[in-house]
Amino acid sequence: MASQDTERNEIERLDREYTLGTWTRQRDFDPTEIVDTEGPRIVTADGDSILDFSSQYVCTSLGYDADRIADAVDEQIREVPYVNPGWSTEPRARLSEKLAEITPGSLKKTFYSTSGTEANEVAMKMARAYTGKHKILSRYRSYHGATAASLSASGDPRRVAQGPEIQPEVPGMVKGPDPYAYGSSLDPEQSLEYIDEMLELEGDTVAGVLVEPLVGSNGVLTPPDDYLPRLQEIAHDHGALLICDEVMTGFGRTGEWFASGLYDAEPDIITMAKGLTGSYQPLAATTVSEEIAEHFEDNLLNQGHTFAGHPVACAAGAAAIETYEEEGLLENAREMGAYLKSELESLAERHPSVGERRGIGLHQGLELTRSEEKRVPFEERSDKVSGRTTVLDEVGAHALDNDVYFYTSVNTIVVTPPLTITEDDVDEAVAALDEALEISDAAME
Ligand code: PLP
Repeated sequence: MASQDTERNEIERLDREYTLGTWTRQRDFDPTEIVDTEGPRIVTADGDSILDFSSQYVCTSLGYDADRIADAVDEQIREVPYVNPGWSTEPRARLSEKLAEITPGSLKKTFYSTSGTEANEVAMKMARAYTGKHKILSRYRSYHGATAASLSASGDPRRVAQGPEIQPEVPGMVKGPDPYAYGSSLDPEQSLEYIDEMLELEGDTVAGVLVEPLVGSNGVLTPPDDYLPRLQEIAHDHGALLICDEVMTGFGRTGEWFASGLYDAEPDIITMAKGLTGSYQPLAATTVSEEIAEHFEDNLLNQGHTFAGHPVACAAGAAAIETYEEEGLLENAREMGAYLKSELESLAERHPSVGERRGIGLHQGLELTRSEEKRVPFEERSDKVSGRTTVLDEVGAHALDNDVYFYTSVNTIVVTPPLTITEDDVDEAVAALDEALEISDAAME
């Protein structure tokens, strides 16, 4: 049994006393201490070993046993732990070369930062500088990060319409519809036509169209195969760049290095983080096409971070990519993804509260519905103010009681295990989910 309702130990008490929790009313911040990890599992101070089918916000794609990364970090920290970004180090140069190799199309040069949020800020800034235009078109069901511009580009229903620290948004952000056939009155084709029309009506002012190729925390929205190449064409017809936020979908999660590669699109800019180092180190990247890189040969790239291209983080990134390659993890994501998909499909058949299964590879999700005839969410989000929990949260909590952890978000159980999982892991997770979904079945209208 996972230790959600046990007494706080000393570390949890200290943490609670002196650390501010993220995205939460502090009264509700009540973290459980993790003292160890093994394979795809995290171990609590009470000794519960929890199978992690979230990869911790889709970060730990390599699980917890990637010794090659630990060794590379250890070596780099002893040799050159830090120099400012004006100097050259081997890990940064080698990682940049490798990213040029594995990213689709003519993507070539990389700018480094430390979070997905910053990678998107940088992408938007570069698009503006390159095109000489200022607006960014993104979509409603999206999350691009937590600072001013990245958050303003996000349409995430959990984040918008909050307090004065968030509203008003930074100017120049426009939002279009999503390719969301299940829960929207527009089908994906109509949503593309809508975006085309929007770009026309905005005039020649849009620098970039920023999208998650396969939407993550806003419900694992999977577009039709031709959606992304067509979006690219529409953006280019209007003189806007296609920026793909692959912070969640990058590094093999869909069975390809990048989801844009899966769809045969060639974005002008890709942003990445999380899987880049398997989150053994905080590192993010914004990789741009040769043409955009060329623009900055003679024009100022007006951006920088003290920790840009941090040598230890880049050493972790280079070792992570070697690990994906040498352990055949993209292949495993395809194989285990196919197995997971078929198991989730049978859950969807058995449980009336599962409205739809979506996803590709090891980026899967189950959207819940409270009525079989109508596609209606239970509740879109937990009410952090009253402390009321939603049916979705209860389903997640029940699975956790059986020692399997899922990330639940926007009416969806997000199923994103590490790329290292086996069939036995899938069976264990699906059995826990099978039991937990009885809660949502029972709560239906
Ligand atoms: N973009 C996407 C698609 C994400 O899922 C996230 C975080 O979950 C971000 C950007 C922001 O990344 P970070 O939390 O590292 O700033």
